[in-house]
Amino acid sequence: MGSEHPWEGILHLVQSPQQYTGREWNSETGPAGRPSVTLVYPDTYELGMSNFGLAVVRHILLATGRFHVRRAFCPAPDMLSLIRSRNLPWMTLDDPVEASDCDLLAFGIPCEILFPNLVMLLGLAGIPLRSADRDDSHPIVVAGGGGLSNPLPLSPFIDAFYLGDAETGAVSLMDELTGGGSRTDRLARSAAQEGVWVPSMGRRRVRWQRAVRLDPADAPVNQVVPTARIVHDRAVVEIARGCTRGCRFCQATQLARPVRERSVADIESIARRSIASTGWEDAGLLTLSFSDFTDLPALLAAVDGLEKELAVNISRPSLRPDTFVRLAGGSGITGRVTLAPEAGSETFRRRLNKDLGDAQVIEAVNAAFRLGATGVKLYFMAGLPGETDDDLRAIADLSSEAARAASRAGRSGSVSISISPFVPKPHTPLQWCGQHPPQELRRRIALVRSMARRFTVGCNDPDAAALEGLMGLGDGTETPCLIEEAVAHGAGFEGWKEHFRRDIWKDCAEEHPALLERLFSGLDPSSDPEWSFVEAGSSVGFLREEYARFLRGEATPDCRESGCNGCGACDGIAVPALRPESADRAPSVRSSSGLPSKAQRPVAATLRIRFGRRGLSRFTSQLDLTRLWMRTARRSGLPVALSAGHVTRPRLRFGPALPLGFESTGEYIDILLCESSSTDLPLDRGLPLPEGFFVTGARLMDGRIPSPEGEAGIAVYRISDLVSAPDAAGLLEGAGGLLAMEPDGNDGIRITAVLGEPASRPDRLLAAMTSARGGPVLVKRVEILGERDGCPVPLLSMHEGVDLF
Ligand code: SF4
Repeated sequence: MGSEHPWEGILHLVQSPQQYTGREWNSETGPAGRPSVTLVYPDTYELGMSNFGLAVVRHILLATGRFHVRRAFCPAPDMLSLIRSRNLPWMTLDDPVEASDCDLLAFGIPCEILFPNLVMLLGLAGIPLRSADRDDSHPIVVAGGGGLSNPLPLSPFIDAFYLGDAETGAVSLMDELTGGGSRTDRLARSAAQEGVWVPSMGRRRVRWQRAVRLDPADAPVNQVVPTARIVHDRAVVEIARGCTRGCRFCQATQLARPVRERSVADIESIARRSIASTGWEDAGLLTLSFSDFTDLPALLAAVDGLEKELAVNISRPSLRPDTFVRLAGGSGITGRVTLAPEAGSETFRRRLNKDLGDAQVIEAVNAAFRLGATGVKLYFMAGLPGETDDDLRAIADLSSEAARAASRAGRSGSVSISISPFVPKPHTPLQWCGQHPPQELRRRIALVRSMARRFTVGCNDPDAAALEGLMGLGDGTETPCLIEEAVAHGAGFEGWKEHFRRDIWKDCAEEHPALLERLFSGLDPSSDPEWSFVEAGSSVGFLREEYARFLRGEATPDCRESGCNGCGACDGIAVPALRPESADRAPSVRSSSGLPSKAQRPVAATLRIRFGRRGLSRFTSQLDLTRLWMRTARRSGLPVALSAGHVTRPRLRFGPALPLGFESTGEYIDILLCESSSTDLPLDRGLPLPEGFFVTGARLMDGRIPSPEGEAGIAVYRISDLVSAPDAAGLLEGAGGLLAMEPDGNDGIRITAVLGEPASRPDRLLAAMTSARGGPVLVKRVEILGERDGCPVPLLSMHEGVDLF
């Protein structure tokens, strides 16, 4: 973001401004001058940056070297209203340009609830909402992702859909769409590709694309490390894709089948390279069904080894209740354990093809508490087809039994349950079923709540669930109109409880009674749903048979255990067999004592670093700065001393915090090291800091010294070009702690002030000057001084040592 960025003058007015400044570590964009692709996640930065699909697509596009790839996210509501009120453009995050300034605008859609946001963003970008109204002056609008198994509701807005695993055909689609010829020519050529649907060319059968194997080269190792806070702030290592358990309400088990696994050696290598590249202190293993990984003992052993060697925490996905007890073994557990019985009674679980006994659930709860869990959360659904009040009572009974187990373990009150309204999903055996209206769902949830004695009940919003159903099961004509109307009335951010405009959706949906009728009544099971032109996974015939089994209460075994059930998804992909005996040999789920301890890496030296920040990095908060330095220290390869305990962190000590909006050349951090030799430090190429941050000095000192915060006494600031010295004098008159104020060059003043003196706190100075000027003022902290032998000296010179920079 340069000084001319249209949003620069409003960043001080929004929450978490760092989410708009970009330039994070690993945020390269590929060669300039190449066809430009803007990857859009139609929600905020904190959610979009947590989306693994976006990371994969970005990685495979950059790996070709043929595209200039930018990211763009939906501005948060406070920023969005400022942009609109000031008529500012929606900007990309990387190499900022207007979001419409690209060859391809490519949306990632992991779930249907984001459909309205996509339409809202097209409007924000100034692009005609409907594909038919665009011409060669507009970017081609592409969409892909797991939320598009029924792409019909978005079909008037999208020029080309890519349906399936990105690794298989996303790059060739991008090549085709950025090749020669008119927009119409390019779309026509791409329409012939596997997995591509161009709505303007008419409807045809499109097969959901599947990667035959998970190629290590496609794993996004150099993931962007956010500076701002995000939801899943960690390296992600996908260990397997797909699940063939076949829960009948679950869309993922149909779309992502069959199962494809990485080898343990590949997983280890990807995890090691990801952590080295990013400096993340946490990593997560991504799969739909962790318990089913074929060689789980070897995987768990490898993960334990990596945690010890790299001093990171690697979280394992949650486990099925029936495997939890066996896999937990003798290990310790920290925090809360989540289990998903989904339905209250064994009978109903069998209908859902989740063959899990009550005893197994309670045994898992007992095991969780025995092993040290602080709480247990149980996930259920309400409003399932054919569900009776007795089934809802069974939820309360099972939860009460879990609460009694908690009491026996001395953990009274530590069981909670979460109830999600059932939403029928396309391409599942329950796709023909109707969804209960919100008022009926509320009654069912209230019934469970009325029986809750020793457990707490949370639930998802029934109105939001109805919208999810309307979007997911929508058609290609009326649903797009509904979306347009709601967006025109101000809808957006439907995934956010606090921003969801149920009033707008209620009013608009009432104008489309046929859509509501279809959602609540369900479809004729003898007919193929409208979205069946997408061959997304299991065949319609298989789904229909599964629906019949649901009605009869019959289970269908996992094809990894029993052999192929004929769903039709494999198409030549080999399916690894389940090896349940592996689980019996499994080591612990979580090693609680293997991480490097303080004693293993004692402090031998202190590396004091003076650093600065310029430009938009001045909007980095102190909390964000702490994370930034933790990751910089890790990826630097320095022999960093680590904190003790279960969660290890590099031992860092910061100088006085800098207020948001200040630039600096005089900030301080001490990195405690467990080696003291300056010649062995890997600093020949400097420190791996994100753009905007720079080092202005570093000194290595033996042992441990007082922290920079404790040694700091005085700070020197420079205020640039915006107020005259007399103006500033007026503003600062009477400010306690002000030691000196003098002109600094032609356009600035220099202020020396005692740190910690309330009246001269730099943020107050900034606020006073900003308000006097009527706009943001640029302030820089130049240096911090301490006292040595009775004289003020920069903190860098407080102790004898070896200067490294
Ligand atoms: S085709 Fe057969 S083996 Fe493949 S996922 Fe379907 S049921 Fe399993």
